[in-house]
Amino acid sequence: MTIASDSAVALPFDNSYARLPEHFYARLQPQPVSAPELIASNRPLAEYLGIDPHWLESADGIATIAGNHFPQGAEPIATAYAGHQFGGWNPQLGDGRALLIGELLASDGARFDLQLKGSGPTPWSRGGDGRSPLGPVLREYLVSEAMATLGVPTTRALAAVSTGEQVWREQSEPGAILARVASSHIRFGTFQYFAGRGDTAALELLVKHVSARHFPEIAGNENLALAMFEAVLERVAKLVAKWQLFGFIHGVMNTDNMLLCGETIDYGPCAFMEQFDINTVFSSIDRQGRYAYGAQPGIAHWNLSCLVQTLLPLLDPQAETAVQLAQAALDRFPVVFQDAYNSGMRQKLGLQDSRDGDDELFADLLAMMTKQELDFTLCFRRLTELAAPADSTLAVTELLQLGDECEPWLQRWQQRQREDSASEQQSEQMMLAANPVFIPRNHLIAEVIHAAQHNADLKPFQQLLAALARPFSYSPELVHFATPARPEQAVQQTFCGT
Ligand code: AMP
Ligand code: MG
Repeated sequence: MTIASDSAVALPFDNSYARLPEHFYARLQPQPVSAPELIASNRPLAEYLGIDPHWLESADGIATIAGNHFPQGAEPIATAYAGHQFGGWNPQLGDGRALLIGELLASDGARFDLQLKGSGPTPWSRGGDGRSPLGPVLREYLVSEAMATLGVPTTRALAAVSTGEQVWREQSEPGAILARVASSHIRFGTFQYFAGRGDTAALELLVKHVSARHFPEIAGNENLALAMFEAVLERVAKLVAKWQLFGFIHGVMNTDNMLLCGETIDYGPCAFMEQFDINTVFSSIDRQGRYAYGAQPGIAHWNLSCLVQTLLPLLDPQAETAVQLAQAALDRFPVVFQDAYNSGMRQKLGLQDSRDGDDELFADLLAMMTKQELDFTLCFRRLTELAAPADSTLAVTELLQLGDECEPWLQRWQQRQREDSASEQQSEQMMLAANPVFIPRNHLIAEVIHAAQHNADLKPFQQLLAALARPFSYSPELVHFATPARPEQAVQQTFCGT
């Protein structure tokens, strides 16, 4: 099959990354597939990006996402990057199953990468097929869109298509392609790739590119590399605070899976925690718990230390001064993280003021959850219900009760609420906006994937997607989507989406 080019359908691409030097990427075409069909399309996101949703769902749109059709203005590239995987250095990774087809400017002027994931082999496939099975595509679609709705910075899903071809993993599985959108796909590992080669000129170009693209407020700063790093640290610390506040476990926080723009990327082995336990790990390959829930802030800090090391030659001509600047910047992480986490926690508990003793209040709540084996999401939702007794749309009482053992903590919290300057109503509103009832629970995702894979039934996927689109609004007929896994349904392990 050949790739058709259609001049009638112009996605208004402006490809700034493809204007960087040729050794930043490889130019290549997606590999066509035999019989693409639409799985899902994200109409509001398409409209925001200036893409006609009807076109996206048309044969042309589907062929474009499938890589069978070459849109005008596209300049497909696979980008080069390196990374630390589980702490081990890998000097050359790169996009092995994804192609950046171009950048789009949204209605508000924001710039986004449009990437096809699963579009065929690239020079960085390292023996892999460059393809993606259907399961991981559905999983990424659901979880990334849920994260976006919850207000967690993330890559987005624009559309997904099935390919009509099988891919071989442990068994034969249907193949699919995800059209993914990100503010950019520039990774900590992109900087590491050039640092590993001693290519300071490339690092300098990258700093300029990233600063102009993501941090216009630092333009003209006399130490641009330092200002960029400080801005990245700020975003990443706030991002990971949000993960903690929603019980999200990323599962594969390798430096190639951390974006400079501070969006969550790579939904391979991720999972939302159900029963609270700080040591929770899902990823089948994370045997030592390196990326456990409670380890995530420390790992983000470590990853940032890898990033800042790549910038040392740009921070100061004197090596010693450069290291001092890097260390001082890096030391901000715990402060920024803790501030963001505490402010989020206050919101989850309906508190406006910051008071002495709040840290203990939060820690004791988590200790209580651990001891009582409480579901993280439902526990906060039950607290919301207690704070807003008149609101009949909450009703998780039947799913989770706080027993007598919880009384002492509840009384402390309620006393703290009375002393707080937020009114009862403000407190309710804060809690209602911070404590979802629907999260993409792992067993629900597994159900959806099973139905799609074995019965070609996408209805469960659409139903779950719809529930997750309104994560704060409960109604009793949706109880299935709010219910934690029964022991026999519980997903013990997740897998990298390869
Ligand atoms: P990930 O586990 O998604 O972070 O991927 C790590 C590296 O493996 C990246 O360079 C990917 O592009 C590459 N990779 C993963 N799966 C495949 C595949 N099926 N074919 C080619 N490369 C892959
Ligand atoms: Mg990755």
